[in-house]
Amino acid sequence: MDYLKYTSSLDKNMIKTQCAYCGSYVLSYSEEAFCHFCEGHVSKTESNNDQTYQSILSIRNLISTKHTSEAISAADSLSIKQTSPRVLFGLANIYRTLSNHIYFDTNYNLDGFMYKNSDNIYLSLDLISKSKEMFYKHIKLSVETDPISTFTLFISNLKLERMIYAKKLLEKLVNMPGLISNYAIMAYSAENKLKQADISALKMIDSSTNSLYYLSKCLINMNKREEAEKILERLTTTIDMPDAFYLLLKLRRLKDETKI
Ligand SMILES: [Zn+2]
Repeated sequence: MDYLKYTSSLDKNMIKTQCAYCGSYVLSYSEEAFCHFCEGHVSKTESNNDQTYQSILSIRNLISTKHTSEAISAADSLSIKQTSPRVLFGLANIYRTLSNHIYFDTNYNLDGFMYKNSDNIYLSLDLISKSKEMFYKHIKLSVETDPISTFTLFISNLKLERMIYAKKLLEKLVNMPGLISNYAIMAYSAENKLKQADISALKMIDSSTNSLYYLSKCLINMNKREEAEKILERLTTTIDMPDAFYLLLKLRRLKDETKI
């Protein structure tokens, strides 16, 4: 199957919205969308202008402009005694991306003991443990009031790889209206390497740009790395999706290693 043809969905006209969890700009085909950065549910009717949201926005901007140390300090300040589930979910994803950023900043061509690399690896591990702490707090303090809060809890459990809990939440989500159910099925199937996970991703091709990221994951599981790489290259030139970008870097590193 020619999977690359599905990237043509990126040529469609897209709407620009902003995520209420992390402040990222989201490009979507309709007013209902999923954030490229945190996967939070995004709709035009949700808006936030409070002080904490402004803080999240400034951290997101620091990440975009590669001011990593400043972004870590600002995230550390905002996370102290933080009890808002929405902010905790945003922070968990911010720490996750910062951890990946630091990890992929390691340079294996350095001579000697690679002291800079070991510093980066320790910092990356520290940041991923902060991310997990924020996801756990989000789960602890969230109350399921509507499909969106159930969906956000599902994403937190999925990113913590707590698949038993994610599956229980998925069972609640499958009958919910809108795109939420199909998105949850796609993400769960790809992360658990289920049979026909690629079919679930293809179902979402015209509804969410993030489906191309999940399709790439499925192709990697199917040993179609070259096709996955091409899709990720095309996706990351159009959409600012850190998870897709780091998956592409990982694929390229694996390719370099096998050449040696
Ligand atoms: Zn977001």
